[in-house]
Amino acid sequence: MDKVIVITGGGRGIGAATALLAAQQGYRICINYQSDDTSAHEVLDQVRALGAQAIVVRADVSDEDEVVRLFARVDRELGQVTALVNNAGTVGHKSRVDEMSEVRILHTLKTNVLGPILCAKHAVLRMSARYGGQGGNIVNVSSVAARLGSPSEYVDYAASKGALDTFTLGLSKELASEGIRVNAVRPGYIFTDFHALSGDPGRVSKLEPAIPMGRGGRPEEVAEAIIWLLSDKASYTTGTFLDLGGGR
Ligand code: NAP
Repeated sequence: MDKVIVITGGGRGIGAATALLAAQQGYRICINYQSDDTSAHEVLDQVRALGAQAIVVRADVSDEDEVVRLFARVDRELGQVTALVNNAGTVGHKSRVDEMSEVRILHTLKTNVLGPILCAKHAVLRMSARYGGQGGNIVNVSSVAARLGSPSEYVDYAASKGALDTFTLGLSKELASEGIRVNAVRPGYIFTDFHALSGDPGRVSKLEPAIPMGRGGRPEEVAEAIIWLLSDKASYTTGTFLDLGGGR
């Protein structure tokens, strides 16, 4: 079966590393991003240089009209989607809950919870045997924060990832008999631009002494787990969580 993957937030960080690995595994690739055209097009050039057929699609995953347009482009330009990586995510500045604005909390929940649910909906409409699809795979990119809660940093973000974990469990059972597996990865501190969003770009290096393995993770190490969960090697695995936290 042809492999067609949609990677949300594929323009940078963990999503970009996943796109590069997917290119080596023979996927046709849709790299979604929200605003950083330059970075997304650099990833596009890199995956094409590896011989993969690929497109970039700018779309806000938390807006259903934009998600509909994203999947329509995939249908037209790459073919029927077989894999979705719900990777796009955001986090607010480090703060206590009593200091958080409604706008910030809503932005976090819309991006990290509504976005993955909307993308899963439109992937399932194409993948599920119920709608004549050939099956497929979904991997949600959660966080160890879902287990730890991130007190005095970003409890709203941790709660959004907790919701994503519950979504993973429920969706995996809902779709298990329809040829679709649903799993999640939970990264710990990974070296990407993500930490600039919380106001501390050097965060991972600073926190390395507190990580049992003594170092932050690389986006490529998370990508390996995502691609494994999507592969036939994980054929009896659904509703499961793979932690990549260096022991945290
Ligand atoms: P990153 O380097 O900041 O990249 C985030 C990507 O998501 C970017 O491509 C961004 O688009 C895209 N994005 C953000 N909001 C979007 C939206 N509404 N619609 C579409 N795309 C959107 O972050 P990362 O570290 O690779 O994080 C990827 C995932 O891993 C996130 O879900 C994050 O919560 C999770 N995670 C990260 C860490 C870590 O330590 N880095 C740890 C645990 C979990 P633009 O490029 O256009 O801005």
